Order: sequence, then structure tokens, then C-alpha cells
Amino acid sequence: MTQAKLIDGNEFSAGLREQITARVQEIRDHHHVIPGLAVVLVGEDPASQVYVRNKHKRTIECGMNSFEHRLPVDTSEHQLLNLIEGLNDDPAVHGILVQLPVPKHIDAEKVIEAIRPDKDVDGFHPMNVGKLASGGLGLIPCTPLGSMMLLRDHLGSLSGLKAVVIGRSNIVGKPMAHLLIRESCTVTIAHSRTRDLPAEVRAADIVIAAVGQPEMVRGDWIKPGATVIDVGINRIALPDGKSKLVGDVNFAEAVQVAGAITPVPGGVGPMTIACLLRNTLTACARLHRLDIPEAKPWS
Ligand code: NAD
Repeated sequence: MTQAKLIDGNEFSAGLREQITARVQEIRDHHHVIPGLAVVLVGEDPASQVYVRNKHKRTIECGMNSFEHRLPVDTSEHQLLNLIEGLNDDPAVHGILVQLPVPKHIDAEKVIEAIRPDKDVDGFHPMNVGKLASGGLGLIPCTPLGSMMLLRDHLGSLSGLKAVVIGRSNIVGKPMAHLLIRESCTVTIAHSRTRDLPAEVRAADIVIAAVGQPEMVRGDWIKPGATVIDVGINRIALPDGKSKLVGDVNFAEAVQVAGAITPVPGGVGPMTIACLLRNTLTACARLHRLDIPEAKPWS
């Protein structure tokens, strides 16, 4: 039996970060502008701390400025909104990201709406959500953007293909569906109330799994030759007391049927930070009216 091609997100994201590094150098040299990303973390959630640390490291590596704001867990909503206002007005800051989730006493929606849409590198502001839905030129959420880059790299044109997106979150599922519509796919959005999920998946040339349920999508749900993008990141316990990361797709089964598949880890995961850097460069280029390819949604 033939095995699916592995779509290597580590390799692709390394290439993307290299391109970004070169572009940052170019605009430093020619335009005397250094793209800057501000990341705000409220509280001490261990997973968020790891994400923020990695974002800082990658931002510095590609020659951008990284502005980290670590605030205590009892920071008031008012204090956080004041900080965002300052970052909105700071010309050295081109991208602003508030690490979610924020503590319960802070209204996440208010925080997202406080960020200037043209600095909203997470792409969560309602203005950017609307632009994505209406085909406008906004900032696109990083994980769907990274998934789309992998798909386009593997498939070339997506026009006319049937895609199923499993999951309807604002962070992954819904923006992914909009991106696929933009690429002229016929899109089904499946979710926890979908009646016959295996049948929906069997009809699809492209499967995007963004559910948060370990190995839920089985191999016999996949149409032979389909392209599978597994967004899920789930930590499962092993009998020996250790743990490992798995996706939302049963990889061992799906790899026997699919035409191509992203592994977990090493698929979509590394694309997310690379696309955050890409969005920061995009925001910087637009704010300074630089005519570079990154000023567009993607090149
Ligand atoms: P979420 O919990 O916000 O949304 C999950 C969606 O899955 C919901 O819309 C729900 O309707 C649907 N769902 C739940 N159970 C289902 C079922 N049995 N059948 C069909 N649909 C079902 O999650 P999210 O934030 O969209 O994240 C999804 C997964 O992607 C998680 O594993 C998360 O860790 C991962 N993720 C990865 C990255 C990355 O960088 N690779 C980024 C964000 C999220």
C-alpha cells in the first residue's frame, strides 16, 4: 500500500522564516524601519508562558524588535486596555498580540476590540474577521494562514476542490473556511452537531481537522488520495506514565489512505509562529506603505 506524502511544516516554516529574515534586513537597510511585535501576557498560565517565550525567541531571530509585556494575574481590565492604547500609538510597534486566554475578570472581546485592526497580527478583531469574510485586505489569523500556505504549496490551485473543515471556532475553523472559499473550494463546515461526520469527510478532497479530540478522524473516513491538514494538538497519556502529542486525525490509519498529510508534531504547529512573524511584517509594510510582497495577504 502506498503511503501519503508527508507535508513538512518544520521545513516549510524554516524557509518562510528565512524569507522573512531577509526581508526584515532589506527594509532595515533601505527604509530604516525595524518591524516590532508587542506580546502581552497576563498571568502565569504555563502553556501561555511557553508560547510567549517561543514567540519572543523567533521574533528576535528574524531581526525584528520584540516587546514583551508580562503583567500580574490581578491586572485590571482598565490597566490592560491602557497598555493596549499605548501600544496602538507607539510607532515602533507594528504588531500587537495579547496571549489568550486572559484571566476571567477581563473581557477578552473588549481586549481584542481595543487593538488597532492594522496592528492586530492575530487577525481576531471584528474588522479583520469582516475583511476576511468579504474578501478584503485585512490580517489573517495565523494558524489558518499557515494551513493555507501548506495546502497551496502542496496542491497549487485549490479551485473546485471539495473541502471539509471540522470545527467552527473563531480561531481556526471559521477563518479556515473563509480562506478555502477564497481559493474557490466548495466548503463544508462540520462541528459537534454534524449528523454524519464520516460521510462528510469521505466526500472531501481536502480535510482540515480542528477539533481538539485526539485521533478522532479515522482512516476509513478519508477519501483515497485526499489532502489532510491536522490542526489538532492534543497531549495524551501513555501506559508507561509518559505522554505524547497527537493530532485530531488517527495518523497511522490516515497515512495509508490520504494522498498527503501533515504530521503532529511538525505539521501546522510550526507554521503558526512563522505566520505571526509574517503578519507583523505585513502590518509593518502597510503602516509604512512599503511596496513589498508581504504587504499582500501572502505571496
Ligand atoms: P475549539 O475547542 O475552540 O473548537 C473545537 C471545534 O470542534 C468546535 O467548533 C466544535 O464544534 C468542534 N467539535 C468538537 N467535538 C466535535 C466532534 N466530536 N465532532 C465534530 N466537531 C467537533 O478548538 P480550536 O481552538 O479551534 O482548536 C482545535 C484544535 O486545534 C485543538 O486541538 C487545538 O489545540 C489546536 N490548535 C492548534 C494550533 C496550532 O498552532 N497548530 C492553533 C490553534 C489550535
